[in-house]
Amino acid sequence: MKPLSGIEHFVLRGREFFVKRDDLIDPLLSGNKYRKLYSLIKTPAETYDDIISYGGTQSNAMLSIAALCHQKGWDFHYTCKLLPEHLKAYPSGNLKLALELGMQLHEVAHEAYEETVRQLRLQRKTSTLFVPQGGADPIAEEGITLLAREISGWQQEQGLDELHVVTPSGTGTTACYLAYALPDAKILTTPTVGDRDYLIHQMEMLGALPPNLRILENEKKHHFARPYPEFLAIYRELKAAGIEFDLIYGTNMWHTLLQHVELIDGAILYVHSGGLIGNETMLNRYFHKGLLA
Ligand SMILES: *Cc1c(COP(=O)(O)O)cnc(C)c1O
Repeated sequence: MKPLSGIEHFVLRGREFFVKRDDLIDPLLSGNKYRKLYSLIKTPAETYDDIISYGGTQSNAMLSIAALCHQKGWDFHYTCKLLPEHLKAYPSGNLKLALELGMQLHEVAHEAYEETVRQLRLQRKTSTLFVPQGGADPIAEEGITLLAREISGWQQEQGLDELHVVTPSGTGTTACYLAYALPDAKILTTPTVGDRDYLIHQMEMLGALPPNLRILENEKKHHFARPYPEFLAIYRELKAAGIEFDLIYGTNMWHTLLQHVELIDGAILYVHSGGLIGNETMLNRYFHKGLLA
């Protein structure tokens, strides 16, 4: 089978990197969300009537599930915390697109959120599928295993003995399943949501922590999805080198990777995790913070 995406190489600060261009698979269902939803993309439309999920209102997973449901003719119910006034009046970014794709949003008060999510999890209708926040679910394994097979095929073609595969983590689902499926490679990742312990805890909900997975830490603490001048700088540097990455996960991963890169021997393959569609919202926030002159 032909790979779903190609592998390019580029040079940054004098070092060569390979990049698996999963960002080019599909504009809405891009990057690791395409891989994580792959088994559902292959599922016949008549299997489900609706999908329910929950989480943040600018989430890439939310937009990807909305696009999938739109294609399949499935209803998509998404539970979130109460929207800020301005976002409710003027939906933007991923939220705007997801609503245009027919997503039905269910806002619940902050205090009721955890209990509402707990109830959603318990639903038992076979025509309804529950997808946990961020797609952190065993349904993701099939698509990520396919990604791993494409990587192994390429590695053999190139005759590379030692391979480091790099990708950023939110829930850690992508990195964890990649590590399971590529036991001879080293998987390097970094937490973008919470710290190292939080990421390990998230991964342990999927299974045992893979021995070939290494969590790299940024020397500076960053809060999830906030603008930082150093992330904007690396975003620009990468773009000038030829590839655009997302400003939430990708920039953090590169910023961290470059702090450790001298200690990494052998080839480095960065798996582009997509998310470019969210850059408009992030660049807007950089602008409003006065960081984008
Ligand atoms: C969702 C997402 C991630 C995190 O993927 P996990 O499997 O949850 O770790 C990384 N990068 C981008 C661009 C994403 O949208």
